Amino acid sequence: MVCACRLWLWLPQIPAWGPSDRVTGSGSDRQQGVGQNPGRFPSPSDSAAVPSSVPNPIASPDTPNPGAAADRVDVLIVGGGPAGAAAAVYAARKGIRVGVAAERFGGQVNDTMAIENYISVLETDGPKFGADMEAQVRHYGADIMNLQRAAKIIPAEEEGGLIQVQMENGGVLKAHTVILSTGARWRNVNVPGEQEYKNKGVAYCPHCDGPLFKGKRTAVIGGGNSGIEAAIDLAGIVAHVTVIEFADQLKADAVLVNKLKSLPNVTVHTNAQTTQITGDGSVVNGIGFKDRVSGQEQHIALEGVFVQIGLIPNTEFLKDTVALSKFGEIVVDAKGHTNVPGVFAAGDCTTVPFKQIVIAAGDGAKAALSAFDHLIRTPVAA
Ligand code: FAD
Repeated sequence: MVCACRLWLWLPQIPAWGPSDRVTGSGSDRQQGVGQNPGRFPSPSDSAAVPSSVPNPIASPDTPNPGAAADRVDVLIVGGGPAGAAAAVYAARKGIRVGVAAERFGGQVNDTMAIENYISVLETDGPKFGADMEAQVRHYGADIMNLQRAAKIIPAEEEGGLIQVQMENGGVLKAHTVILSTGARWRNVNVPGEQEYKNKGVAYCPHCDGPLFKGKRTAVIGGGNSGIEAAIDLAGIVAHVTVIEFADQLKADAVLVNKLKSLPNVTVHTNAQTTQITGDGSVVNGIGFKDRVSGQEQHIALEGVFVQIGLIPNTEFLKDTVALSKFGEIVVDAKGHTNVPGVFAAGDCTTVPFKQIVIAAGDGAKAALSAFDHLIRTPVAA
């Protein structure tokens, strides 16, 4: 099977395609079979790959089909979670050439077994949601390059020039616009039991998983704003919430702490170091912590533990290139622009608040429309 999609990389090394990556026939097959995207990245010798009749909205009389060059795309999306997938669908439906490079297509949704808050989908699981996203992105002909990690971004040297994304495998991707959608990861507490009981009582997202613990006993690790917001949120659903904070006092805003104190089913332990999350071999059954002053160990029986000690944006590779907030989030405006011309960002890796699938997807769509707007307004550099 020939994978034409590889040809758009400057390749010292052929990228590894994920097991689910499929190339469904020749380029022309795909153009007939899918939506409006020209559909793949042709090689210079593959003149049939993007026929000159393919409408290209960024064409000008001087550059009839600038997007048809072999080594570049119009929109390169870095990250294949809900934000990246939505960006790919929106961009590809404009008929322009779209590539998605993702370390793990699907993103965080791959790690959840229950999604109940995506509008119009009553209930689904993460792997199915991820597979549906992939199918939709492929349906519109965007090329997915899975298991590929970006290492660096190099802005265009002049307006309308090409932006370069260096991959960890040494390859370089070139694009007229880039959408960064590299998401985030929850900070782990790193105690015995955390990994073993992930999704079996250990959770990270109260908006997502709180209702799964209705009527049960839970703990929240972390007394900052996100921990106390989580505890307040959970207290309305679960039987009891135990807050465990390492420092000698809660660090959340006073208004949140006061609200928490007004709730009858919450207990707070400060100066408390979580030592373990226990279980019966299949689900969580308790949490252990040590009083940092007295040294006394305690174990509380419960069914759920929410770890709320921070969300780390996957933006380390952007330092010194794209403006980041003090939390490492990509600073974006209301339309998803970053400080770098032609570079947009969407989803959990940005300063947009509330890290949720529906919000990331909306952001991705918005960034794609902004990228398209940029393409049609920016003359292509000579
Ligand atoms: P992500 O999903 O994090 O995707 C980021 C993408 O970027 C991935 O493809 C990743 O591999 C890729 N990437 C990262 N770095 C690089 C790099 N350097 N180069 C190339 N690619 C890179 N939200 C809900 O709304 N409902 C829920 O029920 C829900 N449950 C959740 C359960 C769990 C266990 C977790 C962890 C999260 C849950 N969330 C839920 C939150 C939701 O999954 C996120 O808000 C959403 O996935 C964010 O989408 P995103 O596209 O911004 O980022």
